Amino acid sequence: MEKEKIIRVTCPACLEEGNFRTVPFVDANLDSDLKESIFNRDIFRFCCKECGEEILVSYECTYLDKDNNFMVSLIPEKDDLVIEMTGYTLRIVRTINEFVEKIALMEDGIDDRVVELYKIMLEDQFEEERQGSEILGIYYSGQNPDDKSLVFFIITANAENVRAILSFDTYQTISKQFENYPEMDKNDCEINKIWAIKTLQNGFSDKTE
Ligand SMILES: [Zn+2]
Repeated sequence: MEKEKIIRVTCPACLEEGNFRTVPFVDANLDSDLKESIFNRDIFRFCCKECGEEILVSYECTYLDKDNNFMVSLIPEKDDLVIEMTGYTLRIVRTINEFVEKIALMEDGIDDRVVELYKIMLEDQFEEERQGSEILGIYYSGQNPDDKSLVFFIITANAENVRAILSFDTYQTISKQFENYPEMDKNDCEINKIWAIKTLQNGFSDKTE
């Protein structure tokens, strides 16, 4: 696969076009500096030569980690794409935030399906406790080395900075609770909020039969 690809980007501030270097494929083992630039978003950062405006540009990018047997593809456009790689966990994401989050989860050995189910519960609880607060996104931000608890950032419409902690015990409890749900067996590549809602609905309908 080609290492770099230059695309043209139009600056949203001054409308000048400029060249932008994109990296379509990152191998975790060979490109440790590139891995860093995913986490700090530099790999997606376009700086306009005319006016200095900085924006994040989302483009197709695949991250492969052979040590941990997973591959995460950022595919901003809604194409249906079939990738198969035996022995690997595959994930397709649509945004830069999801891309970074997925890589972090997979690297930490956390089941992202359990995380997506937890986020639904967290969102319900949050909105109940804080009437009028709107959640724009919940993202995994790492695991506490002391007690293995998972830390999440909640992004709200009024820009509050809220953190949520999921204890490792509760993570395992959620995992057990859903292990027999039919959706957990399928090899879905897009594990996100829509997947979690579908899983909860199908699980409940099965139980009432
Ligand atoms: Zn500009």
